[in-house]
Amino acid sequence: MPRAVSSIASNLERIQERIARAAARSDRRPEDVVLVAVSKTFPAQAIRAAYDAGVRAFGENRVQEWEGKQPELADLKPSWHLVGHLQSNKARRASRLFDWIDSVDDVALAMKLDDAAAETNEWLAVLIEVQVDPTATKSGVAQVDLPALAEAVVQLPHLQLRGLMAIPPFCEDPRDARPYFRRLRRLRDDLEQQFGRSFPELSMGMSHDFEIAIEEGATQVRVGSAIFGDRPKK
Ligand SMILES: *Cc1c(COP(=O)(O)O)cnc(C)c1O
Repeated sequence: MPRAVSSIASNLERIQERIARAAARSDRRPEDVVLVAVSKTFPAQAIRAAYDAGVRAFGENRVQEWEGKQPELADLKPSWHLVGHLQSNKARRASRLFDWIDSVDDVALAMKLDDAAAETNEWLAVLIEVQVDPTATKSGVAQVDLPALAEAVVQLPHLQLRGLMAIPPFCEDPRDARPYFRRLRRLRDDLEQQFGRSFPELSMGMSHDFEIAIEEGATQVRVGSAIFGDRPKK
């Protein structure tokens, strides 16, 4: 086995153990937390290695990059997530390439995705990305605008709003990210009350802080470098 491939498998084993322990600390089951392996910058063979080791959800952050790798992986059947910011002029391509769009942050984008999904008679699972800290990300809907955006998205017949996503600031001590995760959960709980239905998914937590996110209710953790290794510096 090539070294990169065997290290992906052993990294995954350790991460699954950590997920299980964090889930247990919050009285949840490990299977309630989906590991979304974020494979941006890594080649198709790394994705295949993770798939062979049992990963069934992957995240990419750019439409174009994924278009390059996707043909080599067409035989795999995990769920493919777009986790990065999406410009509405790429909505059509994204709707055909991904099962989940985790980063919906405005109405125009949501409408474009809905149109594109309607053309192929399909539907897309979506998360609304919330900006929990303006210094951490430019993307994401402002918290005050979340209810109006959710109201618009639930009206769109080809989108299924499953929950919320956020990227908190990088904190040297990952415990310092806890208030942001908690806030996202509260925003979700408020929406559920307001709409009288459930939005079960909370996509939060990355390599550095996924255990804290799980303790605060994450149902999807987006983990890249802890699985695949360090990405080349920009
Ligand atoms: C890159 C990325 C991740 C994974 O980050 P790591 O620190 O490598 O785990 C998660 N979410 C988004 C939106 C990303 O762009």
